[in-house]
Amino acid sequence: MTHQPPQHIVIAGGGVAAIEAVAALRALAGQLPRITVLAPESELTPRPASVAAPFGFGLPTALPFDAIRRHARFDLHRVTLERVEADTTQEDGSFVLGYCKSCDWTGPARRARDKARKDALAHADDCPSKGKVRLGVSEEDLR
Ligand SMILES: Cc1cc2nc3c(=O)[nH]c(=O)nc-3n(C[C@H](O)[C@H](O)[C@H](O)COP(=O)(O)OP(=O)(O)OC[C@H]3O[C@@H](n4cnc5c(N)ncnc54)[C@H](O)[C@@H]3O)c2cc1C
Ligand SMILES: [Zn+2]
Repeated sequence: MTHQPPQHIVIAGGGVAAIEAVAALRALAGQLPRITVLAPESELTPRPASVAAPFGFGLPTALPFDAIRRHARFDLHRVTLERVEADTTQEDGSFVLGYCKSCDWTGPARRARDKARKDALAHADDCPSKGKVRLGVSEEDLR
């Protein structure tokens, strides 16, 4: 059986772990999958190297993502991820409905908040999109 790599991989954060993940994925999955890095920065700052500063070696030079992208291709989306909420409630007048962001399920009836939250938690076990958490991103321009 041949294993197909995913077509689009999203990596949250732009630290050394993210960049190592890009390099590893390019090595393992080749040039085909689209890789998107979601991070507020435009460059990688090698923080551990700052320990040399007190010894007169200066602060480490940040490495622009553009330079890294020439060696291991990825799209950069400069955003900050919002909090991930797999299930929550939706306001409806003075009542609320259980609501699932993964599959757009809404609870059976308007409830008091605690009851609506319980509806949503009960739904989480049966959710058809279980495990596919939607990520919210704020689109403010950080440049
Ligand atoms: C002085 C110093 C010396 C160190 N020495 C060592 C060492 O010798 N060995 C070692 O292994 N480690 C060392 N470290 C620790 C090292 O810096 C961390 O282990 C490493 O940076 C962790 O990498 P990371 O990619 O997991 O996280 P980080 O480098 O912290 O990167 C996190 C990334 O996620 C992004 N991010 C965070 N929140 C959000 C959000 N909501 N939405 C989008 N993006 C977000 C950040 O902007 C950042 O790009 C040292 C650290 C310091 C400060
Ligand atoms: Zn659901």
